[in-house]
Amino acid sequence: MDRVKFVNQGTAIDLNQLPPASLYVYKEFDREGAVFEPPDKIPGGDVEEKMDQDGNTAFVLGLRNWIQLTVLMLTLGLGLQFYLFVQQVAGGGDITLSRPGGVEGFLPIGALMGWKHFFATGEWDVTHPAAMVILAFAGILSFLCRKSFCSWFCPVGTLSEGLWKTGERLLGRNYQVHPWLDYPMRSLKYGLLLFFVYIIARMTTADIAYFLQSPYYRMADVKMLHFFTRMSQTTVIVLAALLLLSIFFRNFWCRYLCPYGALMGILALGSPMQIRRNPNACVQCQRCHRICPAHLRIHQKERILSPECSGCMDCSIVCPVPDTLALKFPGRLVRNLRISWAGLFVVAMFLGTVTWAKSSGHWESHLSPREFRMGLMKIDAAAMQHPAVQFRK
Ligand code: SF4
Ligand code: SF4
Repeated sequence: MDRVKFVNQGTAIDLNQLPPASLYVYKEFDREGAVFEPPDKIPGGDVEEKMDQDGNTAFVLGLRNWIQLTVLMLTLGLGLQFYLFVQQVAGGGDITLSRPGGVEGFLPIGALMGWKHFFATGEWDVTHPAAMVILAFAGILSFLCRKSFCSWFCPVGTLSEGLWKTGERLLGRNYQVHPWLDYPMRSLKYGLLLFFVYIIARMTTADIAYFLQSPYYRMADVKMLHFFTRMSQTTVIVLAALLLLSIFFRNFWCRYLCPYGALMGILALGSPMQIRRNPNACVQCQRCHRICPAHLRIHQKERILSPECSGCMDCSIVCPVPDTLALKFPGRLVRNLRISWAGLFVVAMFLGTVTWAKSSGHWESHLSPREFRMGLMKIDAAAMQHPAVQFRK
């Protein structure tokens, strides 16, 4: 087997010693003099033969990407099932298809209201119960593992990641917004989150109960479907602009605009898990910094506490020095979380949550097919507009 060495200021590291979980392998020629000669095979991972124009990186799908792709396919499948269900209900005949609860993952504002109502009254929202379950799953996962819902699960995050990686392949690089603009732009997502939280915080329990029972909220999933199937010209232009920007800039939507990600980032601030670097072992190759989708300067820190860290673990995978960079949780022993264990944990937590919710009646909407059909018939009526809730001061 080839011996491969990363040489930096006299330090030689056998890259065949990379842990078996190293499913990503990068070929690199360090511009600062370090030499990395890639092997044909590395234990536990395949070496991608393609290299970009600068000879910098080659990418192989890792465990996290497979989980992301599976969730994306599942989401598209649920979307198609919901579309066919709505078509069947609108057709007026027998209803044989079922309405997939998973589509309620796209109703996070309603889910936040549902949670506030639950904490005030102990009553679970029966109109879109799965929305509450999915928000709780995302929040708990992000709290436990550094916003990992965004990098392991979120289908929008997956699309975003696919776009910037495509851009990197096509253009040979990604672009970065200048710091003087980057910081204020990053605060946009927190501003949007604050806006929604402020609105919900001002709503009384009665206001929220009124909203959750309103004809509008009953059909909110159909309204969301129509957002995609009946796009206005403005929607098309905005989505096209976001798509283009996502090709040039890493995770443009997630980094600057997503209030859901902002909430996950705030929850992750309390996370016991952190990316930790051993400065004594670090050879300052900066591969961690270059791969980080959040552009974090990992090679200069011992702990990554930023709410922008999404727990993707890419930095720890590309680090050439064993036991130098890892997602760790503190304790008497600082333990590493290996990528395979992280994947298993994420999948098990998701399956466990959905199984519990389905078996305990916290997943399926209590809206009967007949009620759904009645709502669908009036979907464009004035009564289906967003209810103007009168907030009490
Ligand atoms: S590369 Fe490392 S520091 Fe950057 S977001 Fe992923 S886990 Fe966090
Ligand atoms: S911690 Fe970062 S800079 Fe240090 S050796 Fe690992 S990848 Fe290179």
